[in-house]
Amino acid sequence: MKVTEYFEKAKGRTLVSFEVLPPLKGGSMKAIFDTLDPLMEFKPPFIDVTYHREEFVYNMRPSGYYEKTAIRKRPGTVGICAAIMHRYGVDAVPHLICGGFTREDTENALIDLNFLNINNVLALRGDARKFEGKFIPEEGGHEYALELVRQIADMNRGKYLDDNIENGEKTDFCIGIAGYPEKHFEAPNMETDLAHTKAKIAAGANYIVTQMFFNTQAYFDYVDLCRKEGIDVPIVPGLKPITKAYQLSSIPRNFFVDIPTELVREMSAAKTDAAKKQVGVEWCIAQSKALKAAGVPCIHYYMMGDAESARKIAEAIF
Ligand code: FAD
Repeated sequence: MKVTEYFEKAKGRTLVSFEVLPPLKGGSMKAIFDTLDPLMEFKPPFIDVTYHREEFVYNMRPSGYYEKTAIRKRPGTVGICAAIMHRYGVDAVPHLICGGFTREDTENALIDLNFLNINNVLALRGDARKFEGKFIPEEGGHEYALELVRQIADMNRGKYLDDNIENGEKTDFCIGIAGYPEKHFEAPNMETDLAHTKAKIAAGANYIVTQMFFNTQAYFDYVDLCRKEGIDVPIVPGLKPITKAYQLSSIPRNFFVDIPTELVREMSAAKTDAAKKQVGVEWCIAQSKALKAAGVPCIHYYMMGDAESARKIAEAIF
């Protein structure tokens, strides 16, 4: 079933969803199942699986020169989606990025997903590779998520890259996109960022999942702005509990989001690692309660390897 159909069927009830990362290469599916098994009692209708572009690593050769190699550290997104659907009977939402894909690669990936009966996809641009400073698309690939959305929407109309294909099967993908309550860090201002988001909706995107935020009001303000701009699709808040002291600086550095002073103060005042984790979990529970009370369609939890905290939060809310 499509993500948006779940929202319609829920008739105002707030759903829960989780997001998992493929294990590092060499890891096993067991890690994913161990993470998800204890969360299935909360009945998430769908689980997101992130996609990771290859990274460059530099290894020193005996000669002293560095050798540059491209490695995909977390492969397996599509396989994990299929395994999740098979094991739990829930839908899986693979993330699909522009980075590292030509248009042809994208088309082939979508054909694989369609054949696997995976008909939800979160369409993203992806970030710049380490050491590259800015996002560089693959030659013959997409520069912005908008173009990816257009390609998926074309396939939904039976239009493939090869013009000679007549009567191509129409895929039926429900397309999610990313939204940024605190603005995407590259956008000159919120207005411009929202105009790009609006273009993705006009191109065929069906719903938005937000970047994590720690000030719940930022989400409500973002939804208001979107509605004023005529963006009327469901906007799913994405939440992540801060559970470790170092995340007070790593999260703003990596995700370009603010952490409210009160949360910083409480985390800093907590004496032990366990106490800090408790502060972060309680903050996320309070955010979840406010969002649920406001009737959001779904709360999406970024677990980033910490299923235990996700479980505590889900227990308190769902
Ligand atoms: P875009 O929509 O392309 O926007 C990127 C920037 O370009 C924005 O500043 C936008 O305003 C601007 N822009 C957009 N269109 C245009 C245009 N036509 N002309 C000029 N400027 C334009 N990354 C991964 O690698 N893998 C994942 O699995 C993943 N999952 C994510 C899930 C969620 C819910 C979120 C919020 C992010 C995720 N990301 C993931 C990170 C995402 O790839 C980055 O945030 C990336 O920098 C931007 O992606 P986007 O799809 O928003 O890009």
